[in-house]
Amino acid sequence: MFDALYLEEAGQPAALRKLPENALPDEEVTVRVHWSGLNYKDALAITGRGPVVRAWPMVPGIDFAGVVERSSSPDFTVGQQVMLNGWGVGEKHWGGLAQKASVRAAWLLPLPQGLNAQQVLALGTAGFTAMLCVQALVREGVEPGSGPVLVTGATGGVGSVAVMLLARLGYEVVAVTGRLEEQPYLQKLGASEVLARSHFEMPSRPLEKARWAGAVDVVGGQVLASVCAAMKPQGVVTACGLAGGMEFPATVAPFILRGVTLVGIDSVMCPKTVRQDMWERLALLVNKDLLAEMTRVIPLSDAITAATDLLDGKIKGRLVVEVP
Ligand code: NDP
Repeated sequence: MFDALYLEEAGQPAALRKLPENALPDEEVTVRVHWSGLNYKDALAITGRGPVVRAWPMVPGIDFAGVVERSSSPDFTVGQQVMLNGWGVGEKHWGGLAQKASVRAAWLLPLPQGLNAQQVLALGTAGFTAMLCVQALVREGVEPGSGPVLVTGATGGVGSVAVMLLARLGYEVVAVTGRLEEQPYLQKLGASEVLARSHFEMPSRPLEKARWAGAVDVVGGQVLASVCAAMKPQGVVTACGLAGGMEFPATVAPFILRGVTLVGIDSVMCPKTVRQDMWERLALLVNKDLLAEMTRVIPLSDAITAATDLLDGKIKGRLVVEVP
C-alpha cells in the first residue's frame, strides 16, 4: 500500500488515501517519490476549483523527484535519482502527490548537476516556467541594457523565481504585486521597484506611455492587456499564466504600432532537449540561499489545506511537499 492524494471524480476535492500498489498505472518506471511540488495547477486539481484533471480517478501532482524503484527501461536503473515535470502528469496520468508514481521513461530526467532533489522541487514547474520565460526574453533580444523588465504576480512561485533569475542576469526588475507589504521580500529577490497590481487592473488605453522592455506575466486578463499597452517599441511579453483570468481584453495597437512580441509559454509539452537545457541553466543561475528563503516545506498531509491557501493568494514563494 502507498499514501496518495486521490481524486475520485469531477467536482470533488482530493482526499489522502492508502492505495494498493497494483492500482498504479502499468508504466516503464516506478519511482519512490520523496519530494513533490504544490503548484497553482495542483491547487486547482486538489480543490476541484478548475478543470485541470482530464481522467478519473486521478492522483494529482504535476512534478516530483525521487528514486527509481523498478525500471523496464535501459535509460534508468534502480536506485537512480530522477525528476519529472509536465507531460500531463497529474492531469491525464497519475502524478507525484503520492509515495509512488509509475511513468514513462521518456518523461523522466536525471537530477540536474548542482541541485539536490529538494532544491529541484523548490523550483519545480514554477521555476522551470520562469526559466522558459526568461530564456524567451533573451532569445527575442531583450538585454539588460534594453530597459526595465516587469514581472507580474511577483510574490507567487513563477514570479518569485523570475524576479530572482532576471536580477541575477543583470536586468532592472520591476515587480508587480497585490501584496505591497511584501516589498522587502521582492527587493531581497532583486526587484529594484515594486508596483501595486491595482495600477494594471484598470482598463488601459490601446497605447500607454512606453515603459517596459520586457515582461513576464503570470496573471493574464486585464493585467496582461495593460502590460502590453505600456511596452517599449520592440518590447517582448511572455505570457504563461491566468491567475487573474483567462480573457485578454487588449487591442492590436502594441503589436502593429510598436512591434511588440507576445510569446506564449507552455511548460507541459516542452521538448526534452529544451527541458534539459532549462534545468541546467537553472542549476547554474539559482541563488540557493534565496531559493531556500522563498520555499516552505509541508508534509503530504497538509497539501489539501495548503492548496486552498494558495488559490486564496495567501502563499508567498514556493511550497514543497515532503513525501514520507
Ligand atoms: P502562485 O499562486 O504561486 O502565484 C500566482 C500569483 O499571482 C499570486 O502569488 C499573486 O501574486 C497573483 N495573483 C493571485 N490571484 C490573482 C488574481 N486574482 N488577480 C491577479 N493576480 C493574482 O502560482 P504560480 O506562480 O505557480 O503560477 C502562476 C500562474 O502561472 C498560474 O496561472 C499557473 O497556472 C501558470 N503557470 C503556467 C505554466 C505554463 O506552462 N504555462 C506553468 C506554471 C504555472 P501577487 O500577490 O504578488 O500579486
